[in-house]
Amino acid sequence: MNARPTKFIFVTGGVLSGLGKGLSAAAIGALLEGRGLRVSFLKLDPYLNVDPGTMNPVQHGEVYVTDDGAETDLDLGHYERFTTARTSQINNVTAGRVYDTVIARERRGDYLGGTVQVIPHVTDEIKARIKKAAEGVDLLITEVGGTVGDIESLPFLEAIRQYRADVGRENVCYVHLALVPFVPSAGELKTKPLQHSVKELQSVGISPDLLLCRTDRYLPRSVKAKIALFCNVDEDAVATAKDVEHIYEVPLLFHAEGVDEKLCRILGIWTGRPNVEAWEKLVHTIKHPKREVRIAMVGKYVDLTDAYKSLNEALHHGGAANEAKVEIVYVDSEKLEDASALAHVHGILVPHGFGSRGVEGKIRAVRYARERRIPYFGICYGMQMAVIEYARHVAGLEGANSSEVDPETPHPVIALLPDQRGVESKGGTMRLGAWPCVLQEGTQAFAAYGERELSERHRHRYEFNPDYRDRLSRAGLVLSGCSPDGRLVEVIEIADHPWFVGCQFHPEFKSTPFRPHPLFVAFIGAAVRKQAGGAL
Ligand code: GLN
Repeated sequence: MNARPTKFIFVTGGVLSGLGKGLSAAAIGALLEGRGLRVSFLKLDPYLNVDPGTMNPVQHGEVYVTDDGAETDLDLGHYERFTTARTSQINNVTAGRVYDTVIARERRGDYLGGTVQVIPHVTDEIKARIKKAAEGVDLLITEVGGTVGDIESLPFLEAIRQYRADVGRENVCYVHLALVPFVPSAGELKTKPLQHSVKELQSVGISPDLLLCRTDRYLPRSVKAKIALFCNVDEDAVATAKDVEHIYEVPLLFHAEGVDEKLCRILGIWTGRPNVEAWEKLVHTIKHPKREVRIAMVGKYVDLTDAYKSLNEALHHGGAANEAKVEIVYVDSEKLEDASALAHVHGILVPHGFGSRGVEGKIRAVRYARERRIPYFGICYGMQMAVIEYARHVAGLEGANSSEVDPETPHPVIALLPDQRGVESKGGTMRLGAWPCVLQEGTQAFAAYGERELSERHRHRYEFNPDYRDRLSRAGLVLSGCSPDGRLVEVIEIADHPWFVGCQFHPEFKSTPFRPHPLFVAFIGAAVRKQAGGAL
């Protein structure tokens, strides 16, 4: 049992989506963690999918994978990057999962013939999930997905409304983020959309305690006063959530606006001021890079870079560690007929992917990196592409492929392992979550990690085919990391190359600005050397 009662912050969003609710929740968490609180997060998603695992990344953005193998919303990535909180299955709850649980219970007869309703059965289930996520922490920050006013989010709003009465008024705080647009023709910041969304929230019984106003400029005092008056909040509870150049400025911006101070006062939390020095240093490093490198990301979802959220961040972390700005050039693998688009980059990265679209373009990019000695980093599918490329063009295995792409290939160097074959249902065969790996000393991967044993998160179905281990090793491919039992190949590399590493796992999920992932640091380091034209 906690001596102090757990505190709850609920974050909702208004006017339109995409205003940065997840980032705001993460930044608030960072500041309150900086004040010494143990913080955790919960993302409530109003859609009916049971989890985002099967959702198209173009629609939904990246699927973030936790250590325990949950396929979750990308906001959990923000939470883990901004704080030391580690998320799991319990930190992301969709309406689909809630209804799934309630209906399963109804089928089992648990409701004893009663009528099963949104209130109280669905709302009780939501509240039980909030309670579970709050176990063992001082503060739970719950973000309600979607926009206030959506039909889907109503049960969630009702549940968080009730929560205040359940745990005590002094333990709950409602934060609402909404747009305050500057309308150039009027030369004015317009507060009406915000007022309407607050009204919408009030109509379901929630009165926000603190407003985050997303704008492109600081709100003048008079505008804050007007918002306070119309929305029934204290004037010092109206904070400007101004656009920033770098996401890691958000905690500093909120701190300067007095957000953490006000939240502590509302919740009756007595702490010292947070230490924001580490954030200041980080932002300074990011804003004053000594050099700039260009990295080509050769993938399929180039139109929506949210699909590569953690990856982009991990590249920037690797950049900051090398005092380098990383410019990411998105290259559509389907359009990569020749490799000229890659002529001016200092590193090439092929990320995760599924299906056969754009595969030959990715293989072309790998070949270009290998032959031109450009630093190469292959992640998951990108590792598999590197194995295929090596098999075809170095080991002489003509037509080598992944059986995902070509089930008839004469050389399935990437394939389903025997125990996976025959399992058809989606999601059922994935290798998900944290798996241990042992590195071979003297390899590039070992040099990066500086240790032999590691644990990284996976999300894939296909594997390096063990039948080809000997042939590919004999042809010079280095199998630098394997599962502890030696059965699964987890990391491959090429010895005679400035930096060429492919890993079957997703290192980007564990990279944070303060603990940049070693493989990203090493990759960007190699790109920096390439750009300097130095001794490669
Ligand atoms: N499509 C590949 C597989 O299922 C790679 C998946 C990925 O890149 N995450 O094995």
